[in-house]
Amino acid sequence: MNLIFLGPPGAGKGTQAKMVTGRYGIPQISTGDILRQALKDKTPMGVKAKEFMDAGKLVPDDVVIGIINDRLREGDCKAGFILDGFPRTVAQAEALSGLLGKMGRQIDAVIDLAVEERFLVERLTGRRTCKNCGMGYHITFSPASKTGVCDKCGGELFQRDDDNEATVIKRFKVYKEQSELLGAHYSAGGRYRKIDGAAPMEQVFKRIVEIIDA
Ligand code: AMP
Repeated sequence: MNLIFLGPPGAGKGTQAKMVTGRYGIPQISTGDILRQALKDKTPMGVKAKEFMDAGKLVPDDVVIGIINDRLREGDCKAGFILDGFPRTVAQAEALSGLLGKMGRQIDAVIDLAVEERFLVERLTGRRTCKNCGMGYHITFSPASKTGVCDKCGGELFQRDDDNEATVIKRFKVYKEQSELLGAHYSAGGRYRKIDGAAPMEQVFKRIVEIIDA
């Protein structure tokens, strides 16, 4: 099962992708996570990407297409994958279909998580992640039992540099200008499903499972 998750920043793509990984065993491929890891490792790509990420802008297409090209060829993608945060532009979508075509593969479902922007600022600015295991929390909606400490592994929780209000607003603008169009791009193909991403997490997941199992 080869999946794409679309939706604005904070729509829950990463959370749902992790749940799908847990149930179906296919890997979550988040270009944002790969770029943040590259930055942590201080690779030239990570250092270059930081300027764009901190400004709430998209990293150039050639960089993220290169990441996806390498990642999809890894052994764990054989049974399927979930693309979380890629593609974000029509050029990336076209490059992806070219890459998959060369590999004799195709996308089985494009799931677009629709959430109104007014709900998203609070979701994003309150988001916290474990440095150690990647578990996600929210200071209001799903807080850790002990502030700043992961319930699962005891790791330290951190806030992403780009989850501050000013950068979040820039990220929405970029989404509207460059990524929202992907809905129309994919809806022509018949494998596109738009679902209510504002529903409770478990309900959203149930809907995703129905689409995957259909
Ligand atoms: P995310 O973790 O998906 O919210 O991505 C965080 C940031 O990484 C974005 O605001 C972009 O700067 C960059 N990024 C992630 N994925 C892409 C992509 N497919 N195209 C361009 N930039 C990306």
